[in-house]
Amino acid sequence: MKAVASIPLSEISRLSIVVTNCRKMLAQVKAETGADYIINGGMWNPDGTPCRGLKVDGKLLSAVPWGDMAGYGWDIPRDLAQTTDWQGYDNYIATSPLIMDGKPLEHIPYDSAQGGRRPRSAMGIVGDSLLLYCSSDSLTPEQLRDQLVDRGCSSAMMLDGGGSVQCDFAGETIQAQRMVHNWICVWVKREAAEPPESEESMGKYRVTPSIGLNIRSGPGTSYDKVGGYPCGAVVDVLSVSDGWGQTSKGWVSMAYLEPVEAIQRVTDNGIPIQVDYIAPGRKNRPGGKNPDRYITIHETGNFAEGADAAAHASWLKGDDAEKKRTSYHYTVDDRAIYQHLPDGETAYHAGDGADGPGNLTSIGIEICVNADGDFDRAKVNTAALVRLLMAEHGFPLDKVVQHNHWSGKDCPQTIRAIPGGWEAFLDMCDGCDPEQTELEAAVDTLAAAGVLTAVDYWKGNAYSASNVHALIKSMAAYVRNQ
Ligand SMILES: [Zn+2]
Repeated sequence: MKAVASIPLSEISRLSIVVTNCRKMLAQVKAETGADYIINGGMWNPDGTPCRGLKVDGKLLSAVPWGDMAGYGWDIPRDLAQTTDWQGYDNYIATSPLIMDGKPLEHIPYDSAQGGRRPRSAMGIVGDSLLLYCSSDSLTPEQLRDQLVDRGCSSAMMLDGGGSVQCDFAGETIQAQRMVHNWICVWVKREAAEPPESEESMGKYRVTPSIGLNIRSGPGTSYDKVGGYPCGAVVDVLSVSDGWGQTSKGWVSMAYLEPVEAIQRVTDNGIPIQVDYIAPGRKNRPGGKNPDRYITIHETGNFAEGADAAAHASWLKGDDAEKKRTSYHYTVDDRAIYQHLPDGETAYHAGDGADGPGNLTSIGIEICVNADGDFDRAKVNTAALVRLLMAEHGFPLDKVVQHNHWSGKDCPQTIRAIPGGWEAFLDMCDGCDPEQTELEAAVDTLAAAGVLTAVDYWKGNAYSASNVHALIKSMAAYVRNQ
């Protein structure tokens, strides 16, 4: 008997190696994880330790002495790739490769203990789908390879053989009595389980009953009570399922919560902060407590037309930013300000490592440099946001730093390229007269272009007619030379 599952990578919400150390049966793993597809994972030694390559959620469980054997690595399901780069991925599993780069291996590497005819399990990639393959019929590794070639696999790997072979593919099962070291588990995306209105699915809610509200271990009254919230408590609801909301402490009934109106924050030059958070659980939203002691200023470095704050907000919520582990708190362009994370959460923007003080203790702001935007305007709006944050958090101006401060990167690049540009930007953050700050930004732009040199004079608002004439002539000369 054979069981085969082919699951498009784009439809997989989670792909994990679940380690149970030979202590759990397949049915228990199914009940505990709720995974849609489960197959026995990699091989292990007689003493129960895993062998060949195994890395789970960033933790290396077995590598030596297997070295560079090709396996499968991934951070998120769509990354899944046959690779020897076990250091480059959070998850990695390697046993015996059967097909590499579209070519069946003539000599499959395996020990004599793995040879002969036995039940076999395998994984592979067909097109853009993950293939899981489980055969209770006895096969040699070579026969297994040939069957996977027939299935169209561009790459494939034997997982294990013999009494370990078992699976549950959405109810289609091959049973075995053996408890194995680890399992490959797949969860598929569920449109129907998504809450109907995402706006209502996340945010802050106030507990309304005077007697408070029970916290339960799961979404329903049949689950154990694990605690309670007092009346009036404001709780962060991370997700909603069938009328139950998940919080950091457990599940609560949404029937006893009322949404807390989001306070609309507006800068002193009239730009509203548009909240558009990266979804909880994304790998570029690590959560964590950011004591937000600094403000870090960046430029996006993206000069393309259309690369404005809204475009960056949508990019940050997608797979690419998650894969690159990139996040920050705000993006500012010449018209709008988007907030991507609460100020109090850690973000990955400072380039000083997951535990770096830039990432752990600062609020990251990106200024847009899109070709179809007005960069001076964007700087004025950023300075206004910095003033708002300084007022809200009680920061002094000397806590406003460049990305360069943390990692040495040339960022914010355009501001750094202007002589005195950073000091001028800080002056803008310090002031509260948008008219003046805009004038100063314009003077900086002209200075950078070589149109004028006496920066302080032109920022000073007191001009002689002859100097204005000289400026006009200098601007005309600049235009003629373009
Ligand atoms: Zn930067």
